[in-house]
Order: sequence, then structure tokens, then C-alpha cells
Amino acid sequence: MSCIIFNHMNDLAGKIIHTSTRWINHARSLFYPTGYMKNYGSLGRKTYRDFNSHRPIGPLPKLCYAPWTNLFFNTHGNAMVCCKNTKVILGKYPEKSIHDIWFSSQREMLKKSINKNDLSLGCFKCKDSILQGNYSSTTSVVFDKHNMMPLKKYPRVIEFELSNKCNLECIMCSGRVSSSIQANREHQEIMKMTYDDNFVGQLDEFIPYLKEAKFTGGEPFLIPIYYKIWEKIEKINPSVKILIQTNGTILNDEIKKLIKKLHFQINVSIDSVNKDTYESIRRNADYEKMVNHVEWLGKNTQHLSVLATPFRMNWKDIPDIILFCNKNKYQFNISQMYCPGELALWSLDIDIIKEIIDYYHSIKLTAGNRLERHNIGIYEELIATLEYWIKCKEKNDEFNNRFLDVMNEQEPEIITHQTVNKSDIKNSKNTFRLILFQNGFTEIEFENFAKAIDEYCQNDKDAVCTELFYFHITQSHKPETIIKFYRDSSEYLIKEKLIEEHDVIKKKYSIV
Ligand code: SF4
Repeated sequence: MSCIIFNHMNDLAGKIIHTSTRWINHARSLFYPTGYMKNYGSLGRKTYRDFNSHRPIGPLPKLCYAPWTNLFFNTHGNAMVCCKNTKVILGKYPEKSIHDIWFSSQREMLKKSINKNDLSLGCFKCKDSILQGNYSSTTSVVFDKHNMMPLKKYPRVIEFELSNKCNLECIMCSGRVSSSIQANREHQEIMKMTYDDNFVGQLDEFIPYLKEAKFTGGEPFLIPIYYKIWEKIEKINPSVKILIQTNGTILNDEIKKLIKKLHFQINVSIDSVNKDTYESIRRNADYEKMVNHVEWLGKNTQHLSVLATPFRMNWKDIPDIILFCNKNKYQFNISQMYCPGELALWSLDIDIIKEIIDYYHSIKLTAGNRLERHNIGIYEELIATLEYWIKCKEKNDEFNNRFLDVMNEQEPEIITHQTVNKSDIKNSKNTFRLILFQNGFTEIEFENFAKAIDEYCQNDKDAVCTELFYFHITQSHKPETIIKFYRDSSEYLIKEKLIEEHDVIKKKYSIV
């Protein structure tokens, strides 16, 4: 009985804090600088205002707080302000120290861009998500809560994705995030570890300012360097919240001890609560073992949430996962799957997507408390996303291609070596020009774009010849993708893209 009363009080307190924060921010928004009211960036006035008023804690002056508060490290040593913006690299470890990475000019540039509500500097995924009306799953809102305290010189959150070491071979996953897939399915060499004890040592400067540290992988509980970082956190700032994205299959006494000592918050990926479906998606996992672990984690951590990835094999199970979460008082969240396209929901025919929506509408889920309302809100957003995809497909036959271009950004490109004759690449600038003109590129746009390429090639230390550059771009990208990229991108992004293409050219071609 006392437990029920406590839960109700907790629920009520949470509701009061949440509602008053929203009200305070709505009131504060009347005093935001004029620029905030006038400059809607590329989202347009209506979408911008709609997004801002639907943010979990109400309207805020900045569209995103990641460049001020967050630092993300990936398995290749690259550091970004968030895992979604892979275009603006702040620096690479160990070539640059963590200090130089955080205080880099690239981060300043991104701050300026976000201050103007401009999402063209690599923030395509957030922009797409906002345009879909998928507000609570937009990555940028994750950082909103850090606006409640004055912004500091150092990051509030560091996200560690330092290794792909993983015991599972989930069918929708790739070797990029699972060493087992890399070895067994892709037959490739296991990724080398970039980070070392020196990296852990350099964190001394940052840990005192941290509020949260996030650990992903691979499977975080299998990654040895994470244990060293948790040890540091325990020594320097044990109040840091440690967020783990786990597959729920690894739990031993050492982990249990750590969980009881520090402030762990656990996010478990569960794509089905049906044993057969779960085990056929999450290869090498044992359903009963995972459920036992989730039960233990639910009882021994302050917060446990379940993350599901809806795709072609499990979309029917989503309502059951929500019921499972509601029953056990777990928060439910969704991670949208874009790649591989052939397993994702967005690439299905319109009629099938409509059937999925009808099925979801036919299931009645009721919400009694705040947590259940949250869980059902996520479900409604999933339906809204499916509806958005239908609208896009109805408007645009090329939707699937365009979507893949945007969403594939993070997938490493497979480069096949090619030998070209000098005669093959002769006049390639002209060919490039003609193809773009046929697709609506204007003379002035071509002049500016070609100027950027020519200047880049002139300064090229490795002497990749200009004609080869034009040859490669014409061969590797559809003209409409090139035009769209040129029109949507800032000067900085175009330069970054040229650097990226240059790297591919060096690996791909030999001229004979
Ligand atoms: S808008 Fe999105 S992609 Fe851009 S920095 Fe913020 S979270 Fe990252």
C-alpha cells in the first residue's frame, strides 16, 4: 500500500516539475532575443514554432544545445558534438588531445550556425526528423535539459562509442557496431582499438564538470576501457550519471557491484517480447536470460528504459513491448532504423505501410500515469512517422533514393579499385557541366561549384588531377544528388565533401 502511495506521489511530483518547467519556458520565450523570433532557418516559420513549442521542456532560444554541452567519440577516434552530425569533425584522437578537440574552431563554427537556426552544417538528420513531426525522437531535444543551468566552458555530457566489441550478430546490424558480425558475417579483420590509457588520463580535466557519461558500443559491458573510465568517475566525480546502452545479455557480479555503487541508468535494446522473434533477430542471445537480467536491472537501477527498433520483422510486436514496459514501469523509446533499407519500414510500398498504420490504430493502449502517457506518445509518433513517409512517397517517386542518400551517410563506403586511361578522363569537366545543365543546374551555380573544385585541386598536395576529380564525381553520384547537395550546403560543407571525395579518389583509381 505504502509503495502505491509513494509511486503516486512520485508521479505527481514529476508531473508538477515537468509542467512548471514547460510553463516557465513558455513565459521565458516572450523575452527571447528578437533574432529567435525572426530567424527560422531552413525549417520555415510554422515548423520552427511548432517544434519549439512541442519540445519536452517547452520553447528554448537555441534550436540545439549539443555544441555547447556534448562531446561524442566514435570507434575511429573521431570526435563530434553528437553522434548524428558526422560532417563536422572536431578532431581525431590520438592526433589531437581531448582538450584541443573540445576547444576547436570547428565547434565554434557549428555554434554560430545553430545560433542562426541553420541546420545545414551537417544536421540533416535532426532537420529531417523535425520536418517529419517526430519531435521527441529528434536527437537535438535530448540536450534541452542542459539549458536549465548556465552553460559552462566544459561539456556536461561525454558520449563514448569507443569500440564495436559485441557478442551478438543481430540481423539488422553491421560490423561497424558488432565485432562478431565483422568477423563472422563480413569476414573482416576486427577493428583496432584507437583509445588507450592516455585517453583515460586526459579525462581528468573533464570529469569534474560532467553531469552524464554515456556508453555505447558494441556491448558496453564487454569493453575493458569503460571499466577504467568508471573507476575514474568513481574517484573524481561519483555523482555523474552513467548511461548504458546494452543488449541485456551480459550481467555478472562485477557489473552488479558497479551498478550498486555508481549512478547507472540502463537502456536495454529489446526488439520483441516474443521469444522466437527476439532470438531470430538478436542472433546468439537467449531470451529468458535477457528477461532475467532486465528484471534485476529494473530493481537495482534508478531508471530503466527499453529501446525498440521497429522494422519489417517485428513491427507487429511493438504494442506488446509497450504493454510489457507499462506493466513493469519501464520507459519505452524507439530507435528508427534506416539502414539496411531492405529491412526498414520506410522502404515498403505505400499500401503495406498503410496496413501497418491500420493495425496500430486497431490496438487500444490506455494510459493511466505519466510513464504510460510517455510510452503511448512514442507509439503515436511512430504512427506519425509512417504517415509522413506515405505523404513523401505520394509526392515524390524518388523518395526512396533521396532518403537512402541522406540516411546512408554514416555507412562506410566500400571502395572498389578502378584503373582508368588518361583518355577516359579527358574533358570530364565538360561532361560534368553538360550533365548538370540537363538536370537544371544554372551557369552561375556551375561556375561557383567548379571554382571550388578547381581551387581545391590546385592546392592538392597529393596532385590528384582536376579531370580525375570531375570524372569521379560524375561517375559516382546522380546529377540530382549533386545538385541537391550543392544547393543545400554551406561553403564549409562543400569543402568538407571535396576532402572526403579526394580521400576516395586516392584509394580508388590508378591512371595508366
Ligand atoms: S541539431 Fe542534431 S545533428 Fe545538429 S548538433 Fe544538434 S543534435 Fe547534432
